[in-house]
Amino acid sequence: VSGLLSVVEAQQQLLSSFSPLGSETVPLLNAAGRVLSVSVSASFDVPSFDNSSMDGFAVRAEDVVTAQETRPVELKVIADLPAGGSSLLSIRAGETIRIMTGAPLPSGADAVVPVEDTDFRERDPGTPPPERVKISKPVSPKDNVRDKGQDIHQGEIVLASGQKLRPQDIGLLAMLGNAQVQVYRQAFVAVISTGDELVPVGTGLSNGKVYDSNSFMLVSQLEKYKAKVLRLGILPDREDAIVAGFEQATEAGVDLILSSAGVSVGAYDYVRAILEKRGHLEFWRVNMRPGKPIAFGEYRGIPFIGLPGNPASAFVGFEVFVRPVLLRLSGMVDWSHPSQRVKLLEPVASDGRESYMRAMISNQRGTWVARLTGHQGSGNLRSLVQANALLIVPSGVKSLPVGAEVDTWLLNDG
Ligand code: AMP
Ligand code: MG
Repeated sequence: VSGLLSVVEAQQQLLSSFSPLGSETVPLLNAAGRVLSVSVSASFDVPSFDNSSMDGFAVRAEDVVTAQETRPVELKVIADLPAGGSSLLSIRAGETIRIMTGAPLPSGADAVVPVEDTDFRERDPGTPPPERVKISKPVSPKDNVRDKGQDIHQGEIVLASGQKLRPQDIGLLAMLGNAQVQVYRQAFVAVISTGDELVPVGTGLSNGKVYDSNSFMLVSQLEKYKAKVLRLGILPDREDAIVAGFEQATEAGVDLILSSAGVSVGAYDYVRAILEKRGHLEFWRVNMRPGKPIAFGEYRGIPFIGLPGNPASAFVGFEVFVRPVLLRLSGMVDWSHPSQRVKLLEPVASDGRESYMRAMISNQRGTWVARLTGHQGSGNLRSLVQANALLIVPSGVKSLPVGAEVDTWLLNDG
């Protein structure tokens, strides 16, 4: 590719090679954070029966229309109805049933008088009900009654395919009786690091070497988006070792091979040679900073993405390119990055590329503001660690004054 691709063009080219994975059925408690692959509708009304929303006395509203503090209406208590109690009880004129929150409304009753509006204010379900009760306030029909179907009607779609399941969604699925749920399969991603300077953590560090930190960061990013990971570690610069790594990924059936480093011009000798022999490889120059070079290809049919080696570039490259790929694979419909519009507390300079700068944003008396965190060099991770947002300077913009408004991507979500 000659010339620079815009970020959007590069994203679109990349995404055109991916489509949502198949689905699987998982137990409800394993489903949080996963993406529904079917729409879920209610197979019954919720609540499924009229029930009381208060602890009190189930009445016929017409029996207590005249009730007042000074002239209460006395009713005969004919039964006691805890939550989970019989739905077959009924009352006639002049009668009432003591009822607890969630208990089915007896037939004949059309309202519930809260205990507070009676002369029997005992809430402890251990206490037996009184024989008679004085009602000191009228109620209207339906007062303190949750109608069958008030929350959800049978047949209504309550969760749509492509939605990521949150705790409240899991609760609703359980409310509807689902013990398991159909979700998109998790992406399975092999992570490799390349470079003769890399050594694994937990070993000594001799001069000129650096620890392989990218693979740990990338694995953690992948797991944040619910991908499953095959860690292949550091592949040494030898054709047989690199082929062995790629073969291991192939045999494991990964959906994507993700590497960092070696995508700048002239590097990547073996990875490049191997992919060109058993697939293909393209090097893209994207109009962004950091993370301009990225590689995209395929090894024996498995997509391959090569991110830059500099840690901040690898991180941003992941958020800009790999995150959308994972969301597409996961079947998710809403891809918007959690973001916040902010005002700059300091001037910001860029080189005209779309820039993703490490920033700390905060809310000052109702206004979101941002300042940059430390040295923005693409090899530096500390400023990224100090940041809680990536501040996005659009392409074509070379300087922004104090007070300018920009978008930021939040880094501390979920
Ligand atoms: P490269 O993309 O190969 O030109 O590497 C750019 C920079 O990133 C170099 O300083 C590398 O040492 C560094 N780098 C490459 N891979 C990793 C890694 N896995 N962890 C940490 N730093 C890395
Ligand atoms: Mg290198």
